[in-house]
Amino acid sequence: MSHFSYKDGVLCAENVPLTQIAQQFGTPTYIYSKAALVENFSSYADACKKHGRNEETALVCYSVKSNSNLAVLNVLGKLGSGFDIVSGGELLRVLAAGGSPRKVIFSGVGKSREEMQLALSHDILCFNVESIPELHRLNAVAGEMGKLASVSLRVNPNVDAKTHPYISTGLKDNKFGVAYEDALTTYRVAAALPNISVTGIDCHIGSQLLDDAPLLEAVDKLIELIDTLANEGIAIHHLDIGGGIGINYDNDKPVAVGDYLSRVFAKIDAWRAKNHQDTPIKVLFEPGRSIVGNAGVLLTEVQYIKHGETKNFAIVDAAMNDLMRPAMYEAWHGVQPVLQRELAAQTYDVVGPVCESGDWLARSRELTIQQGDLLAIMSAGAYGMTMSSNYNTRGRAAEIMVDGASAHLIRKRESAADLFALESLLP
Ligand SMILES: *Cc1c(COP(=O)(O)O)cnc(C)c1O
Repeated sequence: MSHFSYKDGVLCAENVPLTQIAQQFGTPTYIYSKAALVENFSSYADACKKHGRNEETALVCYSVKSNSNLAVLNVLGKLGSGFDIVSGGELLRVLAAGGSPRKVIFSGVGKSREEMQLALSHDILCFNVESIPELHRLNAVAGEMGKLASVSLRVNPNVDAKTHPYISTGLKDNKFGVAYEDALTTYRVAAALPNISVTGIDCHIGSQLLDDAPLLEAVDKLIELIDTLANEGIAIHHLDIGGGIGINYDNDKPVAVGDYLSRVFAKIDAWRAKNHQDTPIKVLFEPGRSIVGNAGVLLTEVQYIKHGETKNFAIVDAAMNDLMRPAMYEAWHGVQPVLQRELAAQTYDVVGPVCESGDWLARSRELTIQQGDLLAIMSAGAYGMTMSSNYNTRGRAAEIMVDGASAHLIRKRESAADLFALESLLP
């Protein structure tokens, strides 16, 4: 069920009209629905429960980079979520939001010594290691601290996720992970290091996957590798399939999360039965977009309507610095007028005020709008605010979380003074 719907001709987030939010907090503003967040997380958690998994045998580690607002992390943490982080900064966010470091996994190809120290000092659950030099650095840092670092290797299963090249990560020629053919030798290196404890295996093959076939193929490949490792005396205790399930942006029909998890657990249970394994392997998921993407919209106001020779432009107060996805991936976001009007529709490009031709949010949309109207850019909860910048000295948008009939400010709008507060003149 969508938590953004029209009531009496006005688009609402749960029970709050977006007109009211614009009046109270201004625009551009990101608006999230708490109910949508809870519902999306529950689709993972419920499927785990349904297949007999508990906290020890399944863990959903929300991908913090998709939306890292403290209130979002706090809501998910209270539901039992773990967290997949890609920087020390994200770990500090998780801690500030009350998340448990024992449920944190640390991904990313370029972890610094300082980030490793920070993560080790908080005893995170696991490092998802992506190269042999990273293993050596982690071993050294852990040794200096008298710690044992739990490690999973991010293996590149070399399956085609059939998604946009910028968000496909599981093929041979990208920077992520350890090549499938090199996995065994890399595990041997890891197993021989004194301050490393091999605990898991992981992959993350891409994002916005509508079909789960490539993910299931990746599971097969990882299972095969786990058997090979077992024969070498290297025991794997958890299997992390990464994130990647897509959402509906434009008549997309993503696989239902519950169905996907059922197929994953069926595969794993069949494999365990075949091998007569009693101890269940722990299964980890790292979803981002599928939890938060459709839980958020970007609210913006039409500043001007401009009739060009071949096109009409709706110039709005949100821009590529607020929502990068169209400029970066030519991504499609739905555009809904907040007020339903009885005017003739016209075709518009919805563009921002930034001085770049790439500054557009939507192209060739039939809209009934006039100057001063509010528009909601839909499905903007994931990789929206977290990818925003201050280009053109534009303060980042405010963020609101709606809970029933209440709208809570969860991040203030940045002022110009905030933007240059860290700068100084020459003496
Ligand atoms: C970005 C990322 C995710 C989340 O991907 P979604 O497509 O948003 O689910 C999970 N794991 C890793 C390692 C990532 O980099």
